Amino acid sequence: MLAFAQKKSLPLGKTIPMNIEKDAVVGITYTLKEANSGDVVETVTEAQPFYFLFGFGNLLEEFEGNLQGKRSGDSFDFKLSPEQAYGPVDSTAIVDLPVSAFMIQGRFAEEYVKEGETIQMQDPDGNALPGKVLKRGLETVTIDFNHPMAGKHLHFAGTVVEVRSATEEELDHGHVHGPGGHHH
Ligand code: ZN
Repeated sequence: MLAFAQKKSLPLGKTIPMNIEKDAVVGITYTLKEANSGDVVETVTEAQPFYFLFGFGNLLEEFEGNLQGKRSGDSFDFKLSPEQAYGPVDSTAIVDLPVSAFMIQGRFAEEYVKEGETIQMQDPDGNALPGKVLKRGLETVTIDFNHPMAGKHLHFAGTVVEVRSATEEELDHGHVHGPGGHHH
């Protein structure tokens, strides 16, 4: 009877706002800055919010931890250390590769292999592996295969724009469908 009474007392057309918890589909807008320099790394606006399935290990654990319990309309503002984010810079992931690894049809691909550019390489299994060109020498090219945000302190600030229950199908697939999600 009590539950019935509570239901009746809710204003028509209103639903109880849902908190962010496991199996929720969450939509957010945010600005990501590199915390030390203040440089803006990424901006996600209302025009195209970022949607994800909460509690499925799809995002950084500490990122999700800072959003847990929030509701649509709530804002957030938090920082993550490299250890909480993409780890420290791994010096063994910075390697010198022979110039011969960058030949296209017998010619050095200088239009792609420029200092500061990120290029798509392949590991021995054929998986795509992005690397940043640090230095082009006469015989070798120095490539940094660290995550671009390795060693950096991250500062996220934004707003939760939607929280809803995931559908059975979304839970089954482990990702969000519809606007901002997968289309298949
Ligand atoms: Zn799917």
